[in-house]
Amino acid sequence: MSTVFTNIDFNQQGKQVGFAHLPLSAHNDAWGTIAMPLAVIANGQGPTVLITGAIHGDEYEGPIIINELIRHLTAERVQGKLILLPCANTPALRASMRVSPVDNKNLARVFPGNPWGTPTEQIAAWIHDSIFPLCDFYIDLHSGGSSLFIDESAQVVVTDDLCPEVREKSEAMARAFAAKLTVVTNNMGDPRTSCGAAANLGIPAIAAEMGSNGSVSPLGVQRTRFAVERVLNHLGLIKTETQPAEPSLQVFIPAGGNLLSPGDGWFEPVMAIGDEVQAGDLAGWLHRLSEPEAVPLAVHFQVKGRVYSQRTFGATSQGNSLAVLVQNLSEKENS
Ligand SMILES: [Zn+2]
Repeated sequence: MSTVFTNIDFNQQGKQVGFAHLPLSAHNDAWGTIAMPLAVIANGQGPTVLITGAIHGDEYEGPIIINELIRHLTAERVQGKLILLPCANTPALRASMRVSPVDNKNLARVFPGNPWGTPTEQIAAWIHDSIFPLCDFYIDLHSGGSSLFIDESAQVVVTDDLCPEVREKSEAMARAFAAKLTVVTNNMGDPRTSCGAAANLGIPAIAAEMGSNGSVSPLGVQRTRFAVERVLNHLGLIKTETQPAEPSLQVFIPAGGNLLSPGDGWFEPVMAIGDEVQAGDLAGWLHRLSEPEAVPLAVHFQVKGRVYSQRTFGATSQGNSLAVLVQNLSEKENS
């Protein structure tokens, strides 16, 4: 069940570009909708692959590359079906925000959604109930957004209900994507991401982090372009010469790897993305800028690892994530 309607016919061959519309009766638009650009490129037999972008509205490399596919990829070059949703959370994208300004919700934390819930919950329900059942594979393109510097990575989301065969296929997609890192993660135990929901339905899925800090990374755009091509090639959806890539390092986030701020203040980091640190190493200083005589608080890492993400904002509240560390997955499995 969904109130979303579209002029796109998912069973039609060839290329269609249009919109999905979610009715939203707002103060300034009684009979209006949230319009989500949607394209389907289909040709003959083959897998159906969904690619989403702008699930978070302050992450741009994904939408840039999905729109490029919509403009340049012809149906003749496809074997199977590509469903492209470049701006999954249009209100968030228009506002350049992680969460939707309509209901203050994070589309990557409300799956499987609610067809009668808030607009963001309704978008999730439409993707979950109407799009996922059409799909064999799923790629969800992200970046760090406004609050994170983050290392280039594909993420394989593992949930309690994930079957090993689906995880294996997701890991093969991540190898083809070949970002610098492949992060095997359970999202701090929260299964409500789009990839977590897809995986629970038995759809192999990867998410990717290809830029940082709410900006557009030219290198991230280029590497997303090549990485998506490699995955579509790997899945047999397109046949093309792809850019070769280095093997991806498989990592995980250990317990204690998310360094949370012990208090309020302004955080001055002394580490950088990619640094290798030991438990007890200094991560940075928490300043209390309006109290000149207050001694800055030294914040230390609790475990060893490689710095995967780092907070962009100086102003920091207690409980904010200052940095996330990852460790090599092969060391975990050998220990
Ligand atoms: Zn994101």
